[in-house]
Amino acid sequence: MDYFMPTRLYTGTDCIVKHADALRALGSSCAVITGKHAAKASGALDDVTRALDGAGVTACIWDGVTENPPVAACAEAGRFAAENGAQFILGIGGGSALDAAKAVAVFAANPTLDEAGFYAKAWANKPLPIALVGTTAGTGSEVTKVSVLTDAAHRKHSIHDDLLYATVAFGDSRHTRTCSTPTTLSCGVDILAHATESYFSHKADEISRAFSVRAIRLAADPLKLAGSGELSTAKRLDDKLLDAPQRQDLYEASILGGLAINTTGTCFPHNVGYYLTETYGIPHGFACAVFLPSMLAIVDEYDPVYAADFYEQIGMDSAEYRSLIEDYCLVDGIDVHMTAAEIEAALPRWENNGSVKNTRASVSLDDIRTILTSLFVEA
Ligand SMILES: [Zn+2]
Repeated sequence: MDYFMPTRLYTGTDCIVKHADALRALGSSCAVITGKHAAKASGALDDVTRALDGAGVTACIWDGVTENPPVAACAEAGRFAAENGAQFILGIGGGSALDAAKAVAVFAANPTLDEAGFYAKAWANKPLPIALVGTTAGTGSEVTKVSVLTDAAHRKHSIHDDLLYATVAFGDSRHTRTCSTPTTLSCGVDILAHATESYFSHKADEISRAFSVRAIRLAADPLKLAGSGELSTAKRLDDKLLDAPQRQDLYEASILGGLAINTTGTCFPHNVGYYLTETYGIPHGFACAVFLPSMLAIVDEYDPVYAADFYEQIGMDSAEYRSLIEDYCLVDGIDVHMTAAEIEAALPRWENNGSVKNTRASVSLDDIRTILTSLFVEA
């Protein structure tokens, strides 16, 4: 095994205010990195403001994070943080804001760094210390060394480095209660994708498998409940959708999923999912999870004994687990139509791809062509 996770994580009601001293320990001034809405609507920004005020930490706010954040925006936010004398970076939000905050910490310490230098890790100075506050149950970015950003060519790439770990992370699941049904399901099914891809990664070990199994077991009931209500893709705010213990289970499942992929990385569903997000704007969780049933079919056949052990541990057989993904989480379907020519043009990006090779089975370009064709090309 090779296990390392240096982030101090606090979860539970009012954990940010209760542990404000952990923020003060990072410095007397910070840059808050967030999007326009969720941090405010969820109450997380209020809690952070109370905690910072109480601890005597000054803050400047950069709220320009968008979904699938571009590296260039992180560089801009990094310069903003540097100009304002921030001593640490505090990210608030879902995966986009947390991943962006990690990159902003790099740029704040290296304001003249360009995108190539960022990805090449030509970081002359160590990133500023990072604190993260999660407002969705899905990414698990709070506890990973990974940041997934969009480059100047509009491609999503992940960057991994021990220097990208937060020093401290907070997860008060009350802040996830304002997530709409589609957001809850898209983020929630990302937990299943993380846990499943991690379990069927070549790098899985006893620790990561334990995280994967527990993540799926904790997430299953809340996702069933969320996916069985009258669903619509309309942005419906409904904090009665799940009760507080269910939100807590789902949030803690997202942390376990993050811990699982932190050891193993993800497999082909995530990387092929990036293409759906870049090209069709499909939300990250749905974009990845749409490939999970195909992945399960492949890994079930590759090593039936290993797969049988997985289903036994998660307490669902193969059909039940696929039903949770397809009939509850992906219930609205994904409206994407591709041509054979488009698929041929996209395929080379998965040649020698690390996430494809990470899958505990042999997955060829032919397999990916077959999967994309069966899902998205009209017969
Ligand atoms: Zn993901």
